[in-house]
Amino acid sequence: MAPIISISNLSKTYGTGRKALNGIDLDIMRGEIFALLGPNGAGKTTLIGTICGLVNATEGKVSVDGHDIVEGYRAAREMIGLVPQELHTDAFESVWDTVTFSRGLFGKAKNPAHIEKVLRDLSLWDRKDSKIITLSGGMKRRVMIAKALSHEPQILFLDEPTAGVDVELRKGMWEVVRALKATGVTIILTTHYIEEAEEMADRVGVINNGELILVEEKAALMRKLGKKQLELYLD
Ligand code: ATP
Repeated sequence: MAPIISISNLSKTYGTGRKALNGIDLDIMRGEIFALLGPNGAGKTTLIGTICGLVNATEGKVSVDGHDIVEGYRAAREMIGLVPQELHTDAFESVWDTVTFSRGLFGKAKNPAHIEKVLRDLSLWDRKDSKIITLSGGMKRRVMIAKALSHEPQILFLDEPTAGVDVELRKGMWEVVRALKATGVTIILTTHYIEEAEEMADRVGVINNGELILVEEKAALMRKLGKKQLELYLD
C-alpha cells in the first residue's frame, strides 16, 4: 500500500541557526496511528509544521497523498486536520459556530450533516449551542479536534493532545483517538508520554535533537527496548 504521507531528507534550520530537523525520512501509512515520541525541544512541533506546510523546510520533500506540500499546498492541506498544542477558540462563540466557521476557512460548501456527525462522534452534540467559555478543559480539547475535522480531512495531527492534563482526561482523550481511528482517519500524534504511545500507537517514532532515531511497530519496540530503556531517549 502506498503511504499517505511520504517524507524524505527533511531538514529545518531556523533563522537563529538552530537545526531543528536533520535529514528525516519517514512514511506514514493510511489508517495508522503513528506516535512521535521525544523530549522537549526534540523537533516534534517543527516536524508537524513542516509536514502541514506551515513551516518552510530548509531541505527535503513532503508529499501528502501524492501532493507536494509546497507546490501542491492547497490540495495537500485540505487532506490535513491540525490540532495544535494551544487551544485556539473564541470563548464567546458557540460550539456549532466555531466548528462551522472552521470548515468555511477551507472554502468548502456548508455540510451541517457532517458537522453533526463530528460533534456526535466527539460527544459534543449536547453542547452544540454552548459558548466555548462554559466548557470544561476536556471538552475544549474535543472542540479543537472537531474544528480540525470540520473540512473532512483524511489525516489528523494531534500535537501533544494530553500535555498538562490529568490522568482521567488523558484516558478520555485516548478513547476519542481510538474511536477516530475506527472512522478511517490516519492519525499522527506527538507526545512526551511513553504510556500514550503504548496505549494508542500502531507505530512509534522517537525523535531527538532533530533526528528520527528509531521507527518501529509498537509491539516490537516494547519487546526490544521496554519502557525503562525508552525513557532514556526522552531525558
Ligand atoms: P516541545 O515538546 O517542548 O514542544 P518539540 O519537540 O515540539 O518541543 P520544537 O518546538 O519543534 O520541539 O523545537 C525544536 C527546536 O527548534 C528547539 O530547540 C526550539 O527552541 C527551536 N525552535 C522552534 N521554533 C523555533 C522558531 N520559530 N525559531 C527558532 N527556533 C525555534
